[in-house]
Amino acid sequence: MTAARSSSSIFLLLAVFVFAASCDAPPNPTATPPADQPTWALALHGGAGAIPRDSSPSLQRAHRESLSEALDRGRAMLASGAESLDVVEAVIRQFEDDPLFNAGRGAVYTHDGRHELDAAVMRGEDLGCGAVAALRTVRHPITLARRVMERTRHVLLVGEGAEAFADEMGVERVAPNFFDTPARRRQWLDYLATEPQTGDADRDKSTVGVVALDIHGHLAAGTSTGGLTGKRFGRVGDVPLIGAGTYADDRSCAVSCTGVGEEFIRHNVAYAISARMLLTGADVRQAARTLIREVLDPDVGGVIAVGRDGTLALEFNTQGMYRGAADSKGRFEVGIWEEGP
Ligand code: ASP
Repeated sequence: MTAARSSSSIFLLLAVFVFAASCDAPPNPTATPPADQPTWALALHGGAGAIPRDSSPSLQRAHRESLSEALDRGRAMLASGAESLDVVEAVIRQFEDDPLFNAGRGAVYTHDGRHELDAAVMRGEDLGCGAVAALRTVRHPITLARRVMERTRHVLLVGEGAEAFADEMGVERVAPNFFDTPARRRQWLDYLATEPQTGDADRDKSTVGVVALDIHGHLAAGTSTGGLTGKRFGRVGDVPLIGAGTYADDRSCAVSCTGVGEEFIRHNVAYAISARMLLTGADVRQAARTLIREVLDPDVGGVIAVGRDGTLALEFNTQGMYRGAADSKGRFEVGIWEEGP
């Protein structure tokens, strides 16, 4: 074989190899998108609280993996033109089935050893909103909240009435022990043994929330939770109270909160961020930062928010917040402590 022929076959082999490798390569979420890419943005949280940096590395890895998977799912949907409300529901359903998070399966226990789930969803286009509270048997509270928004003239349904409505809508119900997990059970038993005295329940809250701006320019927000470990049965937190834990308005932003619900209710945090933007001209980052750093008590929680221009805000005043952020400019990050998005 001549030198010319052997070098051309080496070149061919190389070209085939490079082509095959590029087909197998996983999509690179941080690759620079084309300049004409329409704007979309997405943030999610998996709860804020005292998350020690020396917590089990495998647990940290598991959280980061779950957050990345959820972020990747939302990113793919938004990039292909899905509506923000569909993205919010789909990503939260994924979290509700993930036992790592305090939403759906993996929800915390009430003082008397049960689970009571709350959720809310809101559409920025027309301020449509729906919420459910104190559910004991609905597998995906976020979907039921959406049905309340779309199929009733109400905003909030609770307890038995909400569960009867789930049956009417064909929304899946499960046995109450479906939500049990050994880790949350241990957390509850620890709470009973020590925390009622110290008042220091729920150091790591793990509620989930998603906010999104779609390429059609519409915002949506959703939040889902089991509430606080050891809460009284019948207690409702900020999550299903529109304006407290969840809010979206296409003129300003979409917000989902996590933390000590009572404090978020008191300051109507999600609505206050939107109102601050509209009334003072603050951008979403300034508005979220003011609420978290200047208005709320220290060490109570965090928020994620997306402005109508796609700016993302992820603010917390606790040790950490499980969170992720992605947008059409190529951002794709998950974080737990101060580093990260
Ligand atoms: N805010 C939720 C509640 O108080 C709890 C959380 O965010 O983890 O019910």
